[in-house]
Amino acid sequence: MTTRHDLIVIGAGLVGAACVEAAAAAGLRVAVVESGTIGGGATSAAMGHLVAMDGDAAELALCAYSRSLWERWADRPEAEFHRCGSLWIASSEEERARIPARRAELAAAGVDAEAVDPHGLYALEPSLAAGFHGGLRVPGDAVVYPPRLAWHLIADACRDGAELFAGVRAEQLTDDGVHLADGRALRGPVLVATGAALPELLPELPMRARKGQLVVTDRHAPMVRHQLIEMGYADAAHGSDAASVSFNVQPRPNGQLLIGSSREYDATDAAVSSSLLQRMLRRAFDFVPALRERRAIRAWSGFRPATPDGLPYLGAVPGRRGVWVAAGHEGLGITAAPGSARLVVDAFLGLRPALDLAPYRPDRVLRAAA
Ligand SMILES: Cc1cc2nc3c(=O)[nH]c(=O)nc-3n(C[C@H](O)[C@H](O)[C@H](O)COP(=O)(O)OP(=O)(O)OC[C@H]3O[C@@H](n4cnc5c(N)ncnc54)[C@H](O)[C@@H]3O)c2cc1C
Repeated sequence: MTTRHDLIVIGAGLVGAACVEAAAAAGLRVAVVESGTIGGGATSAAMGHLVAMDGDAAELALCAYSRSLWERWADRPEAEFHRCGSLWIASSEEERARIPARRAELAAAGVDAEAVDPHGLYALEPSLAAGFHGGLRVPGDAVVYPPRLAWHLIADACRDGAELFAGVRAEQLTDDGVHLADGRALRGPVLVATGAALPELLPELPMRARKGQLVVTDRHAPMVRHQLIEMGYADAAHGSDAASVSFNVQPRPNGQLLIGSSREYDATDAAVSSSLLQRMLRRAFDFVPALRERRAIRAWSGFRPATPDGLPYLGAVPGRRGVWVAAGHEGLGITAAPGSARLVVDAFLGLRPALDLAPYRPDRVLRAAA
């Protein structure tokens, strides 16, 4: 006889792990199914920048809510939480002119930010190339190390009674649970958090993998203090170009620098593309010339789970009984994990979620298709 769980979470990236944590904390008897390594999917490829991304009201609301929930994890050593702040850099007068509106948009979502004039910009970050037009500093943004945290969240939940089905693929959703690839069946409501692999279990929810590449340098004396990011980054993230690069550099607490990043649709090969890597690095050198002197020790890629409108699917899957979803966060799944988990688990429990779920409900794409 198969045992029944109150909730079966499929996928233990940071989004699934946060859902397991939230469900276990609510007293649910939870099962978690992970076919690979806990935190080994997009979660392990991420830069770990916790960022209040403006440009889309629903996306910003989720980031802001989730950033506030990240505070609970900030003291966990495995999260390697470091509140370095973000510094958005204006490359032109036109970008500088957009700063007050961006600041107002952040403020409306409860996120503090300050405009920085060119003089202030170079006082904050002397290694920037000459000629930038100022920036926008978001002091509450932070950087973290997500894969270890995912592992610890699952380990904690298991200590509190959650059951882990590791190294086995969830093969098919059934009317009352899920069939595993090793022949076992689990019974109970299901929450699918499989990132870019979502269509394998829920083909009705469109999702594209959006490849991204990063480089990490060796350790050195600090060169930058903030997560530096070009103001055009959000345009690239929200855009639909087949392949694009944009500048962002992150100081790791151990002295390494993470250099990003690229976005590529329809690339299925996980191998690092050297032509895109060169474009990415040239862009980074344009912003911080001294980066040329740092030794890159590793480059890797990962696949962001991208929905057609860029917002995640959070909520009950229409047309399926007892099936829920939390997936499709593209380049913001680390930032948005705790908030997404809390919203979905609250809705599952019949509680009123802290944010209106309408913009994130999966039925939006099915309605659009109809
Ligand atoms: C280069 C890069 C940089 C990024 N930088 C940032 C950043 O700075 N800040 C930020 O907020 N976000 C960032 N992201 C985005 C972030 O990494 C993702 O949005 C997030 O990790 C998605 O988490 P997830 O748990 O949904 O998916 P994943 O981490 O991919 O986890 C899904 C899990 O499901 C498992 N799985 C899949 N199918 C099955 C199945 N059938 N049965 C069982 N298990 C299954 C997989 O093995 C995997 O472990 C970045 C992404 C990339 C690629």
